[in-house]
Amino acid sequence: RAKALKEAQFQVFSNDMREEAVARLDLESDLIKALEDKEFSLFYQPIIHLETGKVSGFEALIRWNQEERGLISPNDFIPVVEETGMIIPLGAWIIKTACQQIQAWHEEFPELSLKMNVNLSRRQFDQLDLVPQIKSILQQLNLPGHYLQLEITESMIMRDVEAAHKLMLELKALGMQLAIDDFGTGYSSLSYLHRFPTDTLKIDRSFVSSMENSVEDHDIVETIISLGQKLSMKLVAEGIDSLEQLKLLKIAGCHYGQGYLFSRPLSAEQATEFIEQSLSSPIAFESVSTGSD
Ligand code: C2E
Ligand code: MG
Ligand code: MG
Ligand code: MG
Repeated sequence: RAKALKEAQFQVFSNDMREEAVARLDLESDLIKALEDKEFSLFYQPIIHLETGKVSGFEALIRWNQEERGLISPNDFIPVVEETGMIIPLGAWIIKTACQQIQAWHEEFPELSLKMNVNLSRRQFDQLDLVPQIKSILQQLNLPGHYLQLEITESMIMRDVEAAHKLMLELKALGMQLAIDDFGTGYSSLSYLHRFPTDTLKIDRSFVSSMENSVEDHDIVETIISLGQKLSMKLVAEGIDSLEQLKLLKIAGCHYGQGYLFSRPLSAEQATEFIEQSLSSPIAFESVSTGSD
């Protein structure tokens, strides 16, 4: 009986596996084609200085517009791109495209000193030639490193603290800034945090979105902000989508924010218009509507 049961389980298991494997293979070959056919693009979400309402920079967010499937979320394809190693060429494309965009904005709006945030995936962080790769992109474009801020997560750092520390110092040596993304959702050791050469903490959206209704999450946000302030780090709140959240974050002393309240991620053209508009009138928070969703 035990043997029959095992076989039955195996049968189910392997059918599921086969389906999953086929779906994955499809996705993989679609991804390879997508790189060739240039189906990827970067969108840019403004990061707002909360005190002044001015745009301080943008976070580059990848989009995949696929013929049959339509717009696919990075949460769905970044993991596959990572597993297959395709993140290495795609990651290089992301960094280069983001660099070209920030360079164009610096030429058009030199007085704004805008920064570009770029997400790094784990595999890129572990990539042996990440530093020379970024260095050569900066050199090719003649772009100062401080225009860029790289976003990494707690788990990427904590996996091998010593190696991560060394890499972060090398990235800093190129002039780039470093942000810890989704802060509060991973496990970083607080004792390491002050030793790391990180400049910015990005407070995860999950805390921000529930801080109005949950005393606990409000406390967590306040605690992250005072921790960041003690460590002289910049604080960015992710996913602000209401005026109430904005008010609470300003009271708590958060410096920057991004979220649908200010703007969704925008195409390069739309983002340029956003900058132009913000020049004539910095975002008047009182008049910002919470949108339709
Ligand atoms: P993330 O780096 O934490 O990016 C923030 C995500 O929150 C983005 O989703 C953004 O569109 C979304 N968001 C911003 N404000 C709001 C808001 O007010 N409400 C809601 N509901 N969502 C908001 P997106 O673009 O779908 O990206 C998801 C994740 O995929 C990113 O999370 C990041 O981890 C990854 N990702 C995106 N682009 C790249 C990339 O170029 N490279 C790598 N390695 N990962 C990327
Ligand atoms: Mg990010
Ligand atoms: Mg984030
Ligand atoms: Mg997040």
